This record gives sequence, structure tokens and C-alpha cells, in this order.
Amino acid sequence: MRIIPCIFAILFILGTLTSCESESEMPEETNQPDGDGNGGEPDNEPISAVDTHGLLQTSGNKIVDKNNKVVQLRGMSLFWSQWMGQYYTKETVGWLKEDWKCNIVRAAMGVEDNDGYLSNKEVEKQKVFTVIDAAIAEGIYVIVDWHSHHAEDYLNEAKTFFSEIAQKYGNQPNIIYEIYNKPLNVSWVEVLKPYHEQVISEIRKHDPDNLIICGTRNWSQDVDEVIGNKISDNNVAYTFHYYAATHKESLRDKVQNALDNAIPVFVTEYGVSEASGDGSIDVSEAQTWWNFLEQNKISWCNWSIADKEELSAALKPGASGSGGWTEDLLTVSGKMVRDEIKAKNPEY
Ligand code: MG
Repeated sequence: MRIIPCIFAILFILGTLTSCESESEMPEETNQPDGDGNGGEPDNEPISAVDTHGLLQTSGNKIVDKNNKVVQLRGMSLFWSQWMGQYYTKETVGWLKEDWKCNIVRAAMGVEDNDGYLSNKEVEKQKVFTVIDAAIAEGIYVIVDWHSHHAEDYLNEAKTFFSEIAQKYGNQPNIIYEIYNKPLNVSWVEVLKPYHEQVISEIRKHDPDNLIICGTRNWSQDVDEVIGNKISDNNVAYTFHYYAATHKESLRDKVQNALDNAIPVFVTEYGVSEASGDGSIDVSEAQTWWNFLEQNKISWCNWSIADKEELSAALKPGASGSGGWTEDLLTVSGKMVRDEIKAKNPEY
């Protein structure tokens, strides 16, 4: 007669233990369908390019993402900061991401010339910070470009600037350093490589891992000169620039030669116009270049977001720094490049 209550007691205890175990498992099971830690909310929230790819890393002649998958970024370069500062805004960056589908922007901080960083440090730096902060908020990549033709003359200033950027932003996967935009005809081995090595060692004190892009001789065209003379850092790519109405097959051959020798190439700037930024537009050659970049998975930024009256400018005079540009505010180049970006970049 006493056995029956005992059995009930045992069953009750077992039942309690079982139900506790189930409850403890419940939240995990609810989370499992998406596994993104958002508490089981539907997975229709847009994720960003930087969420998807994370920190970029060179691998052979390619750039790969945090999952070791090859990445090709497409976006826009802003114009010299001291002359087109009105586009160094979060609204412009937001519009380039939302409407143009850019997954990268380039802040081209003018260094010397009139009113560049050397004579106006705080003002120009703040413009770059604004663009970086906006790119981080939008989940896109941002190139911090030391926009100069004579950077070897201002080595200490470059070291100070990039050290500050690395300390402030080096933990963000969005950041890409471009430490010398467009050298003139100066030696890779004797001038450019030593310059890059010194700036890189300053960056690496604070940021051991983000991608750094190094300018090459002759307006960043002689990328093949790096063959046999690469910089000894494990996350460096090399700059190549072209203007489609001026530069054709012979420059593609240079890039191909570099690629064939495991040199990772990044087109931080190009135009569909002539090298002057003006002259004429070559639609057919622009397409040939795009095909070449696609085949080789080379990332690019187009020159430029500006409303200057020249063919390489994407905007017509008076286009606002708040984005929202209707098609009638885009130039021929602006429309061509926007169409290309929208056709190729993944939607976020
Ligand atoms: Mg880092």
C-alpha cells in the first residue's frame, strides 16, 4: 500500500527534472532557425557588406574575406577633400550605399596644394573622420587615401596621420589604408618602397591586420615593377589607376603581368574619360576594362564624386552634398558607373 505513493513521488520528481531540462533547452531551439543571435526574429533584416565579408586579406593575387572567399568591391572615390568638401558628408555616403549600391567609398584627402592637410590639418582630417564614421554606420568599406603626388617629401606627416587613423579606427574591418595615391616618375625600389615600409611600420604598431594599399610608379601605373620587390607585410595590395579613353591594352598587360606574379592589385581610382579627367569618354574601352576587372576580381573605385565641369565628374554642377541626386543630376560618366555598380554589386 505504501509503494504506490512512493511511485507517484518518484514519477513527480522525474517529471519535474524532465520539464526543467526541456525549458532550459527551449531558448536554444527557438534560436536555431537563424543562428544569428537575434532571438529568432525573421531573417529579413538587411546585412551589410562588412557584416558579410569582415576583415579583408590578400591571398595570392586576390583579396579574400573573413571566410577566405574572394571579394571584389565596387564603389566611388570622392574628389580632393579641400576642393569638394561638400561631399564629405554622411548623407553622401548614405546615398552612395542606398541608391548607387556602393560597398566601398574612398576619402581622397588632399595633402599638399592649396589648403590641403599640410596647411589645414584639423579641417581636412575632420572631413575624413566624417566619411569613415558614415561608412562604418552604413556597413561599407572605406579607403583612407593620402591623396598626393609627392608624399615622399612629407614622410613624417604621413606617419603621424596614419598612426592616428590606425589608433582611432584600426579595430574596424571597414578601414583600408591607401598611403600614397599617385606617385610620379620616382623609383619603386629607392623611393616608394622605403616610404611605404616606414608608413606601414607606423600603422602596424596599432593595427596589425587591416589591408594597406601602396601606390606605384608613374601615376600608379607601373604595378609590374613590384615583381620581385614586394613589401614584406602580409596584407598589402598595390595601386593601379587607368583612364579608359587614354590607357588601353598595354596597361592591361602590365596588370596581367603583376597578377601572374602573385601581386594583388587594387584599382583605387579610374575614369571612363581621358587621363586629364576630361577630353572624351570611351564607352567601348570602359567596358573592356570592366570586363578585365571582373575576370580578375579586382576591386575598384571610380573617380569621382564631384560636380566640377569635367567628364570624369559623376555629378552636374550644383548637385547637393546631401545625396538624393535624381538622374538628371548625373553626368554621362555618373550614369555609366552607377549602372555598372548597381548591376554588379550584391544588394543589401
Ligand atoms: Mg585591424
